[in-house]
Amino acid sequence: MVYLDNNATTPLDPAVAEKMCWFLKEHFGNPSSLYPIGRAVRDIITGARETVAKALAAHRNEIIFTGSGTESDNFAIRGVIDTFPEKNEIITSTIEHLAILRVANYLEKKGVKVTYVPVDRFGTVDLDFLKDSITPQTALISIMLANNELGTIQPIEQIVKIAKDNGVLVHTDAVQAFGKTDVNVEKLGVDLLSVSAHKIYGPKGVGALYVRRGVDICPFIQGGHQERGMRAGTENTIGIVGFGEAARILIERGRKDRDRIEKLAESLKKGIEDTIPKAKFNGHPEKRVKNTLNFSFPGLEAEAILLALATKGICVSTGSACSEESEEVSHVLSSIGLRPEIARSSVRMSLGRFNTDGDIQVVLRELPGIIEKLRQISAFEPDEE
Ligand code: PLP
Repeated sequence: MVYLDNNATTPLDPAVAEKMCWFLKEHFGNPSSLYPIGRAVRDIITGARETVAKALAAHRNEIIFTGSGTESDNFAIRGVIDTFPEKNEIITSTIEHLAILRVANYLEKKGVKVTYVPVDRFGTVDLDFLKDSITPQTALISIMLANNELGTIQPIEQIVKIAKDNGVLVHTDAVQAFGKTDVNVEKLGVDLLSVSAHKIYGPKGVGALYVRRGVDICPFIQGGHQERGMRAGTENTIGIVGFGEAARILIERGRKDRDRIEKLAESLKKGIEDTIPKAKFNGHPEKRVKNTLNFSFPGLEAEAILLALATKGICVSTGSACSEESEEVSHVLSSIGLRPEIARSSVRMSLGRFNTDGDIQVVLRELPGIIEKLRQISAFEPDEE
């Protein structure tokens, strides 16, 4: 199998699996219990929190473990809106993940004004539009760090500067950026930031929200005192242990992995451009997480390409995993101005730690023939516009 869908999820790193198995076998205590088996688990969780914090250049008290990246996004937005009832406006972008857009839609129905900042053809937000959208009622700006479909990286530091000049809080969804580019909360200057373990070779069902010290937001889940009362409920101890180990490995070898992945992705990109006529690259040429390659193959349906690749054991995606089953055209691709038929011909390939040069060779051996064959039987004329 050649797995090129690392933006959907990453395989569990064997070292993470080993650590999780060890924990499962050795520890069952409730971290809230005061006797030794509970304390031991609490200490292990504190260690994981410290490591996740370190990977983000944060302090451990600024990390709240959650159930997913989606939950972290929901938490950030609702936490801020609930905290400042007198400010009922938020600003986000048209290309956010549904974890943001659906909450924004929900809040709109509750009377919150939401402004959606448009993006250019590379998927970069319009900073002038963003600046002009701020009013004294703006509570929060939430703009993602790296887009899941295109990889485009947003100018978060500039957004933070604009926000601070106007006394507005900033959240960034860094779920796709974490592990693929530097995610340093001090450098970025954001107040809130979401991450998820299963995008960094950790387990599914665990995420974290960074909340800058001094930023007070409402709790998300009410109950016990877990996660400082901000997200009550007995901790997903096994998930947190896995997240901590994944973060430890990221700190240790993330940079080296990234350099290698970027080289592999570049050779795949070049190979596609050299061998497949009219393949159109989508996304920012430079400012993007380089593991992500999104190509349109005008005249074809992406599903047909995906299924043909699957018969060769190659896994790619037609968009974000969450919208894969929907008939709708990707909101990200339509936001960058792709016509629906071009958007529907778009395939995302996302590389990761376990890809090899051999994987790239397999794709470059199979893909050009598949595209050519599909074009021969396709009723559409390839059209690049
Ligand atoms: N935000 C972005 C940009 C994502 O790509 C994803 C998942 O694909 C999420 C949020 C949701 O994360 P999770 O799968 O942990 O809920």
